[in-house]
This record gives sequence, C-alpha cells and structure tokens, in this order.
Amino acid sequence: MLRLSQVTKIYAGGVHALQAVSLDIPAGLFGLLGPNGAGKSTLMRTIATLQSPDSGTLQFGAIDVLQDKMGLRRVLGYLPQEFGSYPRTPAEMMLRHFAALKGIYGPDQRGEAERLLVLTNLWDVRKRSVDTFSGGMKQRFGIAQALLGNPRLVIVDEPTAGLDPAERRRFQNLLVDMGQDRVVILSTHLVDDVADLCPRLAIMGQGRILAEGRPTQLVDALADQLWTTMVRRDQVAALRAQHQVLSCRLKSGNVEVRVLAANCPPGMDKAVPTLEDVYFATLHQHGLAANPE
Ligand code: ADP
Repeated sequence: MLRLSQVTKIYAGGVHALQAVSLDIPAGLFGLLGPNGAGKSTLMRTIATLQSPDSGTLQFGAIDVLQDKMGLRRVLGYLPQEFGSYPRTPAEMMLRHFAALKGIYGPDQRGEAERLLVLTNLWDVRKRSVDTFSGGMKQRFGIAQALLGNPRLVIVDEPTAGLDPAERRRFQNLLVDMGQDRVVILSTHLVDDVADLCPRLAIMGQGRILAEGRPTQLVDALADQLWTTMVRRDQVAALRAQHQVLSCRLKSGNVEVRVLAANCPPGMDKAVPTLEDVYFATLHQHGLAANPE
C-alpha cells in the first residue's frame, strides 16, 4: 500500500500543482485520470522521488519515501512517456545496461534480461536495436526495463498513446499481469483504459483529488442523474443555457447530448452512465468542465 498524506507542491511562479493530496493506493492497477495541467505528472514524479513536495508525507509499506529515497528507488519501476535508448544497440544489451544501472550484475543480469524479454514477447527481436521497434514494441520494452529487479511499485505515465489496437490490447494485458501482486499506478487521460483495466481510480483536477473509488461505485452513483437526447447542432447552445451539459457527441449530423440533472428534463431519456460520464460530471461539479462538442 502506498499512502500519500497532505502532499503539497507549489512551483516557483506560484502554480499550486498539488494541493494537500491524500490518497491510499492498494496493490493492483490504480488509474489516475485528469485533464492536462491537473498535476498528474507532478504527483508521479514526487512518488518516484524525482522531485520533492513542499510538505506532506509518502509512505510505501515500511518505507518513509521522503526520508529514504534510495530505499524507495530500490523497489520502484518507472515507465516514463519517453525514454532514451542508444541507437544501433541490440534490445538485449540495452536491457542489460538498464539492469546494471539498477545494480543487477553477472548471471542475475543475463537471467533477468532473458526473463523479461520473454515476458514482454520481445525475445525473437532481442538482437534488433530499440530505435527500429514499432511504438508497441517500444512500450513493451519500456515495461521490460520498468520490471527489472521485480519492483514492488510501478509507475506508468501515459502509456498507450500512438499504439494500434492490437498493440494496445497486448500492452493492456501486460499491465494487468503486472498489477497482480504489486502497486501499479497508471497515469493517463484515456478514460477507456482505466475503465477496462483498473479496479480503483482517482480523478485529479487543479492539484486536488476530486473523486476516488471503484469504477462501478463511481458509475453507480450517477444512476438516476444522467439524461440524454438527440438534437440539431443549432439547438445545443439553448440546451447548454438551461442544463448542465456534460458531453456532446456528433452522430450522423445530429448531436447526442448528455445532461446531469436531479430529475428527467422534458423530452429526454435516461442514460446508462459510463466512466466517461463520471469523469465529465466530476470536472463539471468542480467548475472545470471542458464541455467537449
Ligand atoms: P499533468 O501531468 O496533469 O498535465 P503537471 O503535473 O504536468 O500536470 O502540471 C501541473 C501544473 O503545474 C500545471 O499548471 C503546469 O503548468 C505546472 N508545472 C508543471 N511543471 C512545472 C515546473 N517545472 N515549473 C512550473 N510549473 C510547472
């Protein structure tokens, strides 16, 4: 379990990137959602000990993260959005190089590299240089390097952008596997990834945790408050003036509008809520609505 308590970060220039963030993250895949600028990367970098908060505490099992950064780094795997690799270096050598940086040498290093190349389905291409890999292969290589040394805590930052559907599915399956017996934090703005993969999630906005829980629990809480109707494009502005419009989706020339309201607005039907509705409703309730159209 990772426990964050009152974690606060104000950047020079006055941006309140984290405002007293308190969060318990149990073993398994934990989704962190939020719009750009919400503070997700700041939180990920803080947990990964790449930067320090101004105040607050972080506890991972017996490790006081701010007091024992090296202790945390020994049990941490980090998959950043982009990671560097040397050109014309075979993937296997690159992985062994990363292993050495983690203090893994000798037979352990070879064994660990082989195990992870097999796990991530890269064994057959181990002699190829990482810079010739497809996006999906690079991401799987990223997972392989993040899993070196069998970390207890893994941080995955915006992983599935740019992957084709088959690569994305393979990557998602690997993430689920990874979450079996460790804490895995998946920071993303892809609501579908979190809905599909994560037993628990949090939604961040403006440096705060706005909602937290199980996807089903958050979705159920919207039942009886969500309504939908199809309108012409030129009717949307009038609806917005009258109702809390969460989202608008263009469908064969018309617009499917989803509205948050205590009672059914005239002419609308009850909608089955999704995690995307939860996301928009949460931002809306905190005055952060994007109102996409
Ligand atoms: P997210 O990952 O959710 O997009 P970030 O943690 O990157 O959010 O950013 C949160 C806020 O902090 C934003 O307003 C961003 O502009 C600001 N910010 C991020 N990094 C820095 C920095 N190094 N210096 C100043 N402001 C920053």
